[in-house]
Amino acid sequence: MEKYDVAIIGGGIAGLTAAIMLANEGQRGIVFEKSTQFGGRSQTVNKNGVYMNLGAHALYKGGEAMQIFNELGITIKGAQPPTDTAQTIWKNQVYHVPMSFRTLFSKQFLNGIEKIQLAKMMAHLSKMDVEAVEKESIQDWAEREIRYPMIRHFFYAFCRTATQTHAPSLQLARPVLRQMQRGVKEGVLYIDKGWASIVTELRSTAEKVGVKLLNAMKVEKIEHDWQVKRVIGSNNEAYEVENVIITTPPDEACRLVPHVENTSLDRWRKEAIPATASCYDLGLRKLPDKNHQFVLGLDLPVLFTNQSRTAKVSEDGMTVVSLVNYHDLTKDRKTEIQTSKSLLEKSMDLIQPGWRGEVKEQQYLPHIAVTHNFPHIKRSAIPSPDVPEIKGLYVAGDWVGDEELLVDASLASAKRAASHILKRNQVLI
Ligand SMILES: Cc1cc2nc3c(=O)[nH]c(=O)nc-3n(C[C@H](O)[C@H](O)[C@H](O)COP(=O)(O)OP(=O)(O)OC[C@H]3O[C@@H](n4cnc5c(N)ncnc54)[C@H](O)[C@@H]3O)c2cc1C
Repeated sequence: MEKYDVAIIGGGIAGLTAAIMLANEGQRGIVFEKSTQFGGRSQTVNKNGVYMNLGAHALYKGGEAMQIFNELGITIKGAQPPTDTAQTIWKNQVYHVPMSFRTLFSKQFLNGIEKIQLAKMMAHLSKMDVEAVEKESIQDWAEREIRYPMIRHFFYAFCRTATQTHAPSLQLARPVLRQMQRGVKEGVLYIDKGWASIVTELRSTAEKVGVKLLNAMKVEKIEHDWQVKRVIGSNNEAYEVENVIITTPPDEACRLVPHVENTSLDRWRKEAIPATASCYDLGLRKLPDKNHQFVLGLDLPVLFTNQSRTAKVSEDGMTVVSLVNYHDLTKDRKTEIQTSKSLLEKSMDLIQPGWRGEVKEQQYLPHIAVTHNFPHIKRSAIPSPDVPEIKGLYVAGDWVGDEELLVDASLASAKRAASHILKRNQVLI
């Protein structure tokens, strides 16, 4: 039987990061990935030289993930999209958002007072003390703090884009406001050649520091007697370990663990609310309307962004754009999914008339989990890295942890899981 200090289940960005952190401290680790490719939801599809992430992806410069990449010496190549121009869809028309002097006097959906209020709201977001915000939903916060209905529409659109989640009545205000503040103050990066370039760097770093990487190897079971004993792979082979970090979605995590019903892991699974979306990624020969690069739906939960305006995401200068329809988590998702494609196509007709003739590559993802959970008001317990009932069992991923969101939650929880194991194994860090 092969023996390791730590087994990591899932070779996405969280699993690879945790493995590197542990190996850096001398722990012998093995990563199991069920797919042939590493990267999970941070994969990028290369379609004839057009690099498409699984939906629009932006890395927050002020987030935990960026900080951890820096700590690990992972080079992130990309660029920040400009924030001085944006448009919005409102009642089937596209309007400029008054973000700069140039667009202040263009055809508007906001009156003079609303323009001033919008500027005030953006200024307030960048300066406010987010940490002082009480436990309440972002909807309760916005209904109290933002007086003008049009400004609230704008705020919710910004909130959807920043968190990639459409559930204002459920989302906790503080993490949402923190994310929006980071967006306003530090901005985001679009990544050259897509997020797979980060995965490639993580993979080669993991190999260099001695992590064993197994792809096309699904884990079927984690055996324990309330202390982790071994991991059973799909080849029926057993791997002897004392510590396991699970980075799979919560349902799959519970499937792997016998007697899970008596554990916190099962409670975390029951409380998790996945945020889902439909994504339409397009490689266009050219952009029909170059004035429209970043468009937020105000009365529609959609986003349009041209990632190729700053990042190198094609080999031959193609324009690579992404459209997202955020599913309303308080509604029946089946209906949402059925109508998503036509909603995105109609939005594209408004934003980029004539786009259909320019399509060279495309990818449509009708239903993808952007995050398997997010900080919400119904959560009674915060999934923490260690499953307290089973010694040596840890979890990481975007559904685990404190108040981080998206990939920041994945990497912050991966770091926490790794440091708990190091403490347990008495490695001083
Ligand atoms: C459309 C979309 C847009 C997004 N936009 C953003 C954004 O703008 N900013 C941001 O920060 N984040 C964004 N995200 C989120 C980000 O992509 C994820 O948070 C991150 O990729 C999650 O990484 P992970 O390693 O935690 O999980 P995953 O990537 O899901 O990795 C889990 C891995 O476990 C493997 N696995 C599952 N079961 C088993 C098993 N039994 N045995 C072995 N392996 C198994 C899976 O194959 C997978 O590779 C977006 C996600 C999506 C889908």
